[in-house]
Amino acid sequence: MKIICIGRNYTNHIEELKNERPTEPVVFMKPDSAVLLKQHPFVIPEFSNDVHHEIELIVKISKVGKYIEPKFAHKYYDEISVGIDFTARDLQDKLKSKGLPWEKAKAFDGSAVIGDFIPINQFSSLENITFELHSNNQIVQKGNSNLMLWKIDELISYVSQYFTLKIGDIIFTGTPEGVAAVKSNDVLEGFLEGKQLFRIQIK
Ligand code: ZN
Repeated sequence: MKIICIGRNYTNHIEELKNERPTEPVVFMKPDSAVLLKQHPFVIPEFSNDVHHEIELIVKISKVGKYIEPKFAHKYYDEISVGIDFTARDLQDKLKSKGLPWEKAKAFDGSAVIGDFIPINQFSSLENITFELHSNNQIVQKGNSNLMLWKIDELISYVSQYFTLKIGDIIFTGTPEGVAAVKSNDVLEGFLEGKQLFRIQIK
């Protein structure tokens, strides 16, 4: 199983990090060892003093595919959820400034939180789905799929030009604004259309 992540898919988040607006999706990956095991806390790694939460809509691939056309992309997934793309921002800034790959800042152990999945037939439209991250019972990030620069089907089509999608692969579709550092004892909860899909403790 692999995790394919999209960066810079929401205008307001691009602006908060002062990034350039991309002309194509920004893509990076996390290995399966990045998945935070269910019921486990997230331990802030020693190599960072600035680990940020990024709440994202995530999609689970249900069918093998390559060179998928956007109009057929909906046949390749039937469940979605929310997850966190934990990012060691201090390390990422260092790597970015040198033009180096981001993996150490993005793909470390525990950096991928995956919520419980919900069948997509429970939503009337995937184009208008709200999601939220709460930290210690306060809303810290709020997103809506209608603000994505590239929609789920376009992303599936795009990434499948480079990587064969396999059953169980997960796509992280990018974070809206509001990313911020986590600290010990924070409790983070992810919601999709008001339904809680994960709850994790920071250590
Ligand atoms: Zn992200």
